[in-house]
Amino acid sequence: MNSCRGARTAMVVGAGVAGLTAAAALAGAGWQVEIAEVSPSRATSGWGLCLTGPALRALAGLGLADDCLAAGYGMSVITHVDADGEPAGRARLPSLLGARRPAMAGIARPVLHRILHAEAERRGAVVRHGLTVTAVDQEGELVHVGLSDGTVRQVALLVGADGIRSSARGLLGLATSLDYHGQMVWRALVPRPQWATGIHQFAGKAGTAGLVPLSVSRAYVFLTENGVERSVLPEAELVPRLQQMLETFPGRMAEVLPLVSASESESVVRRPVLTAFLAGAWNRGNGVVIGDAAHAPAPQMASGAALAIEDGLVLAEELGRHSSVGAGLEAFVRRRGQRCRTLVETSVAIARLERAQRHRETYPLTETGHRLMAEPA
Ligand SMILES: Cc1cc2nc3c(=O)[nH]c(=O)nc-3n(C[C@H](O)[C@H](O)[C@H](O)COP(=O)(O)OP(=O)(O)OC[C@H]3O[C@@H](n4cnc5c(N)ncnc54)[C@H](O)[C@@H]3O)c2cc1C
Repeated sequence: MNSCRGARTAMVVGAGVAGLTAAAALAGAGWQVEIAEVSPSRATSGWGLCLTGPALRALAGLGLADDCLAAGYGMSVITHVDADGEPAGRARLPSLLGARRPAMAGIARPVLHRILHAEAERRGAVVRHGLTVTAVDQEGELVHVGLSDGTVRQVALLVGADGIRSSARGLLGLATSLDYHGQMVWRALVPRPQWATGIHQFAGKAGTAGLVPLSVSRAYVFLTENGVERSVLPEAELVPRLQQMLETFPGRMAEVLPLVSASESESVVRRPVLTAFLAGAWNRGNGVVIGDAAHAPAPQMASGAALAIEDGLVLAEELGRHSSVGAGLEAFVRRRGQRCRTLVETSVAIARLERAQRHRETYPLTETGHRLMAEPA
């Protein structure tokens, strides 16, 4: 039995955006942190993410915003095109990091993970791959965490950051449903067209699609398929099926089509739109869940990563402010609950309107969601 006792010891389950951020923030505050990540290697399968202003602001809290801007593609404008190909709005977003910095950034997921990984390790967190949690038992101020390699840790804090299908959540005795919203989302990595210097979003007859730059040379295409059963397509069908759907979109989407055909089939992914929100407590004793394990919005608001990064920072902050882990976790959940609930609910409302082809009605909701997220975390 491997024992690691101590007042400020933490086991984090999951080396995703939330887990790595929490580990970096906790280690920076003097905690001894170990991360158990189920994937056997650091390689993260790779499509892109949009880091909105609040995500960049939270990354700045870890000193990482400039690294992400340098490794990704900074931008400030979202262009909407309606189903007839007419411009439906062009929003220039203010930067939360000051006028000299862009409002948001597109970044390849593996690049973001590499930056977060390096920072967590630089601050002293230990990341173990191919490891998961199998049992959780709490005794007074100690959490006994059983791991899949047969070892046990005794720590002051357990953080479940293992995503929407969290195992840690179940082991802590917390339960939530995963809700499917009749939409499948697609992502495809493509070369960046020169004109794509901001986000372009196109409303089609049957869904929405668009383009997000990730670097000077790359971008990703996104597409939301509406009113479909949840299903898995054979890999060979992904590229032709995506092309077929993109053909129905107006405007410059026609220019993106040949780029998708050139893309490798493994750079195209299709996922169900699932949401989750843990309505009651997110903590039990000295264990807590964060990130998608507690609140997973639909991807339409592009804010799940922002919430996950904020969680890591706020968790370390509240634990630093309170004399017991339990009191720190209560304060963390109080501070995060309403913001995350509103964001998840807004994303679900947007998904519902998209399904009903009421795209224009989604714009004010998206704006309200972003305004909420611009408030301090
Ligand atoms: C298609 C799509 C597009 C999206 N686009 C955006 C976007 O543009 N902008 C944005 O902000 N958000 C976006 N999101 C949401 C964003 O990806 C998530 O909110 C964010 O990744 C949540 O981070 P997390 O660390 O909580 O979970 P995850 O990123 O899911 O990380 C969980 C980690 O835990 C590990 N793990 C899982 N189970 C176990 C286990 N049992 N034991 C140990 N480790 C485990 C996983 O391997 C993973 O490393 C998108 C989501 C989807 C599905």
